[in-house]
Amino acid sequence: MTREAQVLPFFESRGVRNAGRRTGAGRNVRQGAALAKKLFIKTYGCQMNVYDSARMADVLAKLGYAQAEEAADADMVILNTCHIREKASEKVFSELGRLRSLKERKRRNGGSMVVAVAGCVAQAEGDEIVRRAPHVDIVLGPQTYHRLPEMIARAARAAAEGGAGRGVIDTEFPAEPKFDYLPAPGLDGPSAFLSVQEGCDKFCTFCVVPYTRGAEYSRPAAAVIAEAKHLVSLGAREIVLLGQNVNAYHGAASGSAAKEWGLGRLIRELAEIDGLARIRYTTSHPCDMDGDLVAAHGDVPALMPFLHLPVQSGSARVLAAMNRRYGPEAYRRIADELRAVRSDMALASDFIVGFPGETRDDFEETARLVRDIGFAQAYSFKFSPRPGTPASVMAGEIDDDEKASRLAELQSLIDAQQLEFNEGFVGRSVPVLFDRTGRKSGQLAGRSPHMQAVHVEADDRYFGTIAAVKIEHAAVNSLTGGIAETIPAKPEAAEGAAA
Ligand code: SF4
Repeated sequence: MTREAQVLPFFESRGVRNAGRRTGAGRNVRQGAALAKKLFIKTYGCQMNVYDSARMADVLAKLGYAQAEEAADADMVILNTCHIREKASEKVFSELGRLRSLKERKRRNGGSMVVAVAGCVAQAEGDEIVRRAPHVDIVLGPQTYHRLPEMIARAARAAAEGGAGRGVIDTEFPAEPKFDYLPAPGLDGPSAFLSVQEGCDKFCTFCVVPYTRGAEYSRPAAAVIAEAKHLVSLGAREIVLLGQNVNAYHGAASGSAAKEWGLGRLIRELAEIDGLARIRYTTSHPCDMDGDLVAAHGDVPALMPFLHLPVQSGSARVLAAMNRRYGPEAYRRIADELRAVRSDMALASDFIVGFPGETRDDFEETARLVRDIGFAQAYSFKFSPRPGTPASVMAGEIDDDEKASRLAELQSLIDAQQLEFNEGFVGRSVPVLFDRTGRKSGQLAGRSPHMQAVHVEADDRYFGTIAAVKIEHAAVNSLTGGIAETIPAKPEAAEGAAA
């Protein structure tokens, strides 16, 4: 899942990579080359889109495109869109309006700008985009960005022949997997995303992902392992395995009698890579938490003790209406199994509040489940219908004020749990992977094994290392502390045995 549809910590990032991270060793976009063309990608949505944007930048680096800081400076602008949020396409059209002015200004000054729309809105509304925004040159779906060079050439020919309104649309689900055609990825910092699975066959009734991203596809294990080794050779200390439904992974096996590997087996192999200290995966579906994957949390020290496992609701009735294929008791059982193999396992979840037909009793069931499980993090949202999904035409719409009041209640419960979880770390020493600069000068920020954001005063030499931090203060969303050990002389192996 792209974090579960509807309900992720969605963001809009500017530029090719996340703001605040550094462009680090090995990045293969040729920044600042004197005569390079400039590329600006605006990314909406989840980690999958961040990964896709980075891979599009990798593809275009081969054509000489370097990163631009602003769309106004770019020769090519890509909007990598997300269809999960409400009014997603309106936002895209409004951004396209701004780009029309920029493109026109460039043209008046004798320059040019290629405008492309990628991602899930492009997949869902390709023809409409070209009709309403004829200055768009290229519309491409999530499965075709390896064909960008060819599309740019076709768009240039179309522009020469007829000008506006002749945009190139490529929103197929091609038989050849795009990963076979992508260049080796670059790296921005010590934590790298690696896409292992795409698409979803679950068809939750509120979600557009199965329609925009297509059927489940898993990359062969050998390709994943090769990419992971490459990322580690560039300096990655942590790899986050990505998939819309990542724990449904079933890739062709690598050099074994088995035909396919599940995610647990893949993680065990990745953990053997020298220098790789941390492994995470996101986002998972409860039905795909098989025994081997649960056991890996106990057996593989590099697999971090934090799992984002969306439950969405604590009511069996609502879960059935969502077509989630499990009930609250099954979710509780999985949480127990994970904590039986790793006692410090922290869970995060997504919640949809006010799903059609949700009664006050259903909502109480959700609150009860939250109290029972105890979440380290959670993202909760009011239900809002996505056009074309079964839930968008379901009876039993909940009044908006009632949704807002249930959401506020749930969020206050979740905030209290997050704070309590974080406060449990005050006075303890926690290994932190420093992967970004802090908000203030002289600050670095990183992540604990439990995905807590940790801020410290530290000099740049700590960037990319894992160092112990003595936690002094806890807030709902972050920890602060001081460095408790000097920089490790060489990359550590995995951090400590599982509990
Ligand atoms: S259909 Fe369900 S399982 Fe699939 S991506 Fe959407 S929310 Fe996740």
